[in-house]
This record gives sequence, C-alpha cells and structure tokens, in this order.
Amino acid sequence: MQQPAGVSPPPRDSGTPATARPPDGDVPWDLSNAARPTAESRATVAAPLTDRLLRSWLRCRRRAWLDRHGPAEARRWSAHRALTLQDQLHSFQSLLPTRPSHGEAACRAGSEGVVGLRLRGAGPGGIRLEAHPPLLLRIDSPSRWGAHAYQPVLVRQGRHLTREHRLVLALWGRLLAAEQGAPVPQALVLAGTGSQLQQEVFKLGSGLQQQLEEVLPRLAQELEPGRPPPPLVNDRKKCTLCCWRSLCDREASAEGHLSEVSGIGGKRRDLLVSLGVTSLEQLAAADPEALAGALEEHGEQHRDVAAELVAQALVQASGEPRRRAPGDPLPELAAAPGVLLYDIESDPDARDDFLHGLLRLERRESGWPDASGAAQAPYHPLLALQEHGEERLWQRLSGLLEHYPDWPLLHYGETEAISLLRLAERQGATEAERARLRRRLIDVHQRLKRHWLLPVNSYGLKAVATWLGFRWSQRGVDGARCLLWWRQWRQDRHRAGVPPRRAAQPLERIFRYNRDDSLATWAVARWLLEAPEPALTDLADAPTPGASPRPAPSTTPDPSTTPDPSTTPDPSSTPDPTPRP
Ligand code: SF4
Repeated sequence: MQQPAGVSPPPRDSGTPATARPPDGDVPWDLSNAARPTAESRATVAAPLTDRLLRSWLRCRRRAWLDRHGPAEARRWSAHRALTLQDQLHSFQSLLPTRPSHGEAACRAGSEGVVGLRLRGAGPGGIRLEAHPPLLLRIDSPSRWGAHAYQPVLVRQGRHLTREHRLVLALWGRLLAAEQGAPVPQALVLAGTGSQLQQEVFKLGSGLQQQLEEVLPRLAQELEPGRPPPPLVNDRKKCTLCCWRSLCDREASAEGHLSEVSGIGGKRRDLLVSLGVTSLEQLAAADPEALAGALEEHGEQHRDVAAELVAQALVQASGEPRRRAPGDPLPELAAAPGVLLYDIESDPDARDDFLHGLLRLERRESGWPDASGAAQAPYHPLLALQEHGEERLWQRLSGLLEHYPDWPLLHYGETEAISLLRLAERQGATEAERARLRRRLIDVHQRLKRHWLLPVNSYGLKAVATWLGFRWSQRGVDGARCLLWWRQWRQDRHRAGVPPRRAAQPLERIFRYNRDDSLATWAVARWLLEAPEPALTDLADAPTPGASPRPAPSTTPDPSTTPDPSTTPDPSSTPDPTPRP
C-alpha cells in the first residue's frame, strides 16, 4: 500500500489490555507525602499516558501530575470545561448532518462520523499510550477497514491553534494510524457553529511526531510514582480555569508564593526570582529604591512599579489595609439621593451582553442603607434578547436611567461603562447625552485601587468583597456557570415537556447571581464611604502599613435575607418607572 506523507502506522500494540484505563485523579494522595510511593501510586506504574494527561502537561506540568496522583476530592467541577464540551458538540452537529456512530464497528461499517473509539499504542521506549478523540471523520483512502479511513477532528478554542492542540492532534494521528493500518496525513480543525463554522485542514507532518517523541518520555518521567509534584505554574493566570485551583491557591498562600502578590504575573515573577526575591515575605522586606534600581535594567516599566509591589506585599504580609491617597473616594455620592448599582452578564464569545441588572438603592434620612437594607432594594433585571433587538433594550434601559437622573451609576470594573456607552452610541444618543452618561458612571474598582492598598491577592470583585465579609448566596458560581445557565434557559424555555417552573430556574439563578454582584459592589462602595480619612503621616512612603481599620463586619449581608429570586420582576415586563424622589 502506498504510504502518503503524514503519520504512518507503527505496529499495533497487541499487548495492551482491553480493559479501560483507571480514571485520572482517582488515586488519593497527601501531597506532603508525594515523594514516597504508596500502594496506590505503585498501582499506577503501568497506567498509560493519555491525550488528556498530555494536554494537561502542556498547560501546566503540575496539572498533569495532579490529574494522575492528586486527591480526587480536591478536583473541582469546572463550568468552563462544561462550556467547552458544549461548544464542541455544537461544532460537530454543524459539521455532520447525521448523528455519528459508535466504536470500531462503526469504522468497519464506514460511518461518516465515529465517536467513542479508544485508541491504544506504544510510544518511545515502549511507553503505553491511550487516546480518545472526540470525533473521527471518514475520508476516501484505503485502510484495514476497506476503501475508507478516518481523520481526527478537533474543535479549537481561541483564535489560533496552540502547541497543545498540535501535539494532541499528533498523538491522535499516531495512534489512529496504528489502529486503522493506514497513515493519517491530516486532521480537521473546527471553530464556531452553524453558518459561522470554520474548517481548517491541519497537516500532521513528521516534525510534530519528532516533538511528540521528545515530550512523551519527559511526561512519563514526571508522572513516575514517588516523584514530587512540579512547582506551581509561573503565570498563575493559567490557574483561573483549572480544576485544581483551590488546592493550588491554598498551597500558594501557605508558601507565600510571589504570584500571591497582586500585580505580579509570570514575567515579573521571573525577574524578581532572578534578583533573589523568591517569596512574598522577601518582597515585603525589600528596599523599594534598591529594587527599582535592579529592575530598571529590565525596563523602565519595571522600575516604576517596584515601590508599588513592595507596598502591596507589605500590606498582604501584615494583613492590614493601607490608605494610599487622601480625599473622598466617592465624592459624587455626597449629595446623591440614591445610587443605581449596575452589572452586566455576557457571553464573550458571542459578544452578547444578555443581562443588564440594576439595583435601585435609595438614600434614607438616616444615611445610606447598610447590607441588610441593600438586600431589600428593588432589582431590575433587563434581559437583552437578540430576537427583540437592541432598540427595545435601550428604550427600557434609558427609560429607567432617565427616571433617576441625579443618581450615580456604580459598577465594578470598566466593562459596564464601555458596553453602556457603546450601546448608547449605536442607538443614536447624542454626544451631550453620552457625556452626561459618562459623568454618572463610577467605577468602584478604579476608586478603590486609587485610594487603598488591601491585603488581597487580587482586586477583582470576588476577592475584595469576600475579604470584606460579603458572601454570595450561591456558592461556587462564576461567569462561566452563569453562561451555562443562560444557554440552558435559551434551550429549555420553549421546549415541549419542560415544566415552566423548571425552565425558569436557570434564569432565576442568573438574576440572583447578578443581583449579588451588585450587592457586593455596594459592600465595597460602603466600605469606601465609611473608611476614616487617614492622618497625613499614614500616607507617607514609610514601608509600614497605615493604621486603617479592618472592615466593619456590618458589611456582611446575611444570605438568608436575600429575597427569593422567584419574586424578581418579570424580565419581559417594562421596569417599574417609579418617579425619582
Ligand atoms: S491550579 Fe495552576 S498551578 Fe495548579 S495545576 Fe492548575 S494550572 Fe497548575
């Protein structure tokens, strides 16, 4: 048989047992005892390397180790992974007109699409390999199954194919070539769905196989029983979507990892380590001037942030907040009759801001409402259904804002301001109207960062409000989870057989989450309003933190006082245009 270029079939690994591999991560392990092999770890000696382990390892070496040896109970369910699988399914459905068939029988029968084929084989040095491509697509080329063969299909997340994608494709190609007894010269890469589906042919050249030959022995070695876990990944932004995040966060905090200092990413950490500053404590003890001088060699921008990094590390090491600038952080609230707390929920891939939530907080004679008062405030969830058009959303949103023209619009982060001003522009608001809107928008996150250093490893809303004692009424919810609920609601709301009450639940959860975000924003704003003005000496550049107090416990709302989301207004109704006070 003529062998085209690409991945040629090595001999089949007939010695591989037919039993399924043990699930990754099912072996309990105390990480502190990682260097000593246990009975459980010895049981994994013969476990094959899988495509999933390879993918994990290419993201973070520690992640692959945890997948194999980590304590299963520490692995967290990831809404992001669920979204990825959902996107993959939709891409496959857009590609194939019919449902794919299952397993090797489907390959023999020549089905157009095949799922559920577990591939096994051997790698360099006899390393046992196993892979489970999510979809195989039939092509016209001879194989041991007849006049047809298969190529693997991968759904790409993001704009470009990464090394992780390429090497996983190379592994699939290698094992599929052995399985079908015919080369796999190329794979198909998909992105998007429906009429937006993009298809790209990716050549599986010999260079990729060479890379795989180099990578697999290193991976096998690192996963050997008795090996300690690799260190935390340098750039901890990668941890955001990882199922081991809470375990690694605990470890980073316990060891004072430099990535725990807000403002330090992978590159800056490398720089500091090269200068001998390897922990949060060492950074807190550093002389800012000397550090600035040492960092200057690597670029002006690093010199400029040296004092700030040392001050932030000091605050985190001491656990006490420090005022960094005098003045009222929120002067716009001094005479305001109320505030509107504004938070948007989005589908970033679809560029769809599907919910604009507003919490209407009126000032009382006794002053601004505390946490329990805020929990009773009217909430206006304005849904932006694409089928209704943006104009309808703008009418409802601008109508609500016009009823409270003197009420500042508080939000956390720049997203809301950018989205609202763009929406206003698209809907024909005049320059003067947009300028007025701009003046009303107050970014609480920006004001906080301008006036305070806090002992938190991130100035995101979750980290800051949690430090203040705020608790979300639904545990473990994030933007990805919200997006899953949104898609579920879109799918179920008109589906026959789904009871209306059940179909409405995802939307109620989204409203509750969105409303909680507004309450959390208010917890931060209220703390800013109540924090005492410091003495001038507290603002000096002295490396000791200021004498500002810990946050008052009164900022913690009682989750039990959160109104039942089923009482939230009907999103399809026009918001209550209560006259402004
Ligand atoms: S949380 Fe971060 S350091 Fe830990 S395994 Fe995941 S990516 Fe690696």
